[in-house]
Amino acid sequence: MSPVNHQFRLAARPVGLPKRSDWNYTEAPARDPAVREVLVKIQYISLDPAMRGWMNEGRSYIEPVKIGDVMRAGAVGRVLASQDPNFKTGDHVFGVLGVQEYATVDGKGLTKIDPNTAPLPVYLGALGITGLTAYFGLLEIGKPMAGETVVVSGAAGATGMVVGQIAKIKGCRAVGIAGGREKCDYVVRELGFDACIDYKAENVLESLRRHCPQGIHVYFDNVGGAILDAALACLARQARVVICGAISQYNATAPVQGPANYLSLLINSARMEGFIVFNYASRYAEGVRELATWRAQGKLKSREDIVEGLQDFPETLLKLFSGENFGKLMIKVAE
Ligand code: NAP
Repeated sequence: MSPVNHQFRLAARPVGLPKRSDWNYTEAPARDPAVREVLVKIQYISLDPAMRGWMNEGRSYIEPVKIGDVMRAGAVGRVLASQDPNFKTGDHVFGVLGVQEYATVDGKGLTKIDPNTAPLPVYLGALGITGLTAYFGLLEIGKPMAGETVVVSGAAGATGMVVGQIAKIKGCRAVGIAGGREKCDYVVRELGFDACIDYKAENVLESLRRHCPQGIHVYFDNVGGAILDAALACLARQARVVICGAISQYNATAPVQGPANYLSLLINSARMEGFIVFNYASRYAEGVRELATWRAQGKLKSREDIVEGLQDFPETLLKLFSGENFGKLMIKVAE
């Protein structure tokens, strides 16, 4: 007997913040794997700001989720049955498995993970896509050099916290920007950032000038909007601005707020470049190896924000946009 599979399927394209009625909560029997397929019991589902973009119609770096399809999401889980010789029952895997309890997928899209190296949730954060985003975005686009100042927004979030720690590993000064004293204290005291600006309580421009007396050499942007503009106003010569995300704009119903201070790129012979982590897919194994080594050496800490229960997926996703998440947000679906 196939187990019952609960799923969130896209029902409507949201306007502004997504709401529960933008999905249908459905159930259907889990499907047995066909040749080269694998049936996975999902244990943890990654919640990502990008999910908001995947719900929109229009051209992007990936196809939008179709109305009626299971909502796209990265997840980790355990193999229940396999028709792919590369996977056996009991293996743990990561893949784009969707917001559901079971997934029957082509084995080609799965990566084996080792729960003895790190607990499963870490494979959705520091050793997963957000860790790799920080790793490739900072090192390949930001190219930080020892002694330089690296500023990262969304500093207490899944990607930002790894960016600042890698900056420290590379001998840089790391300055974070995050919402609230608790998050700022955490990245300085626990993660070793040199400073953190509470954008909800401070004047970001004035604080950046104070904490970055040599100017900003690398600005890793996760939020866009007014914070990007403040960072642009403080660039050092030949600075690199890494456009990783712009979460402040994802639910905007008005046109996206563009950077007014872009002439700072001209004045400082600076560069601004966007990237998608998928560009580095062929090098994920290399990235995970180095991140895991730093983690084992105690140089890279991770923090996960784990919410139990699939049913509350729509409300849990919103935590990313209100800043209620503290660390890599995910849903625990099963042991
Ligand atoms: P996260 O940082 O763990 O969570 C999102 C955080 O964004 C919230 O905790 C909140 O922190 C902050 N935030 C929300 N609204 C904001 C606003 N209006 N202004 C400033 N900050 C706001 O999420 P994540 O998964 O690591 O993603 C971070 C960024 O990286 C996102 O922009 C995401 O799209 C991007 N990303 C890009 C790639 C890529 O390939 N380019 C891959 C993964 C992620 P506070 O409490 O500090 O406000």
